[in-house]
Amino acid sequence: MSTASGYLTVSGIGVDVVYKDIKNLHIGVYPPVGRVRVAAPRRLNEDQVRLALVQRLPWIKRQRARLQDAERQSQREMVTGESHYVWGNRYRLKVVERAGRSHVELDGDRLVLYVSEGTSTEQRRELLDRWYRDRLRGAIPEILARWEPKLGSVSRWSVRRMKTKWGSCNRETGHIWLNVELAKKHPDSLEYIVVHEMTHLLERGHGKRFVKLMDGFMPDWRVRRDQLNEDPLAHEKWSL
Ligand SMILES: [Zn+2]
Repeated sequence: MSTASGYLTVSGIGVDVVYKDIKNLHIGVYPPVGRVRVAAPRRLNEDQVRLALVQRLPWIKRQRARLQDAERQSQREMVTGESHYVWGNRYRLKVVERAGRSHVELDGDRLVLYVSEGTSTEQRRELLDRWYRDRLRGAIPEILARWEPKLGSVSRWSVRRMKTKWGSCNRETGHIWLNVELAKKHPDSLEYIVVHEMTHLLERGHGKRFVKLMDGFMPDWRVRRDQLNEDPLAHEKWSL
C-alpha cells in the first residue's frame, strides 16, 4: 500500500494530511497539544482538503480549546487516586507523606510517591518527572544497542520535555532528543521514535526514501505510530 502524505497550514494551524483508499475525510485532534491529523480520500486534491478543513475550522478550534482546558485541569493535582501511565499501563497514584528521602515506587497497580509532609504539587510533579526521565534513560541504551549495528551510531542522546514532538534530531551532530512523555507510552512507541530519529540521521524529511528506509527497518512502524497517537480527544468522520 502506498501512502502519500503532506502538511498544510490552515488559519495558522498545522495539519498532517495522509491520503488513503477511503471514502470519507477523517479529522482527528490529538492530545497533548491538539495536533490535527487528516486522512483524506485519494480523489481529493490539496485545495479540496484545505476547503474541507476551513469549513470544519470552528469544530477543530473547539476541540483544541477543550484539550487545552483538560491539559490545564490535569496539570493541577498530584493527589492520591489520580490515574498515571507508565509504559502504557495505567496506575493509581498513591501519595504517602513521611520523613526521609522522596522517591517513587511501582507497587502492583499503584504508583507510590513517598514525600515529606507539606510537599507542594509542583515538587511532587518534579519528583515524578525526574522518575519518568530515569525510566527513559534506563530503557534507551538497550534500544540503541539493538539498532546501531543496522542504522549507524548515535553520537549523543538526551531526554527532554517537548510540547509538539515525540523526538527530534540534529543531523550535523548526530544528536537525538526523546520526549520524556514517551515513558508513559508502550515501549514499542519509544523504540519506534528512536528508530524514526535514527533514520532521519540518514534521510531528512518524510519523503519516499524515508518511508522506504522505515519499511525496511521496521515493517510495523505505521501500527506503532498509530498506537502512539491513539485515543484522540476527538475524532470525527465527515462525508463529502
Ligand atoms: Zn520525522
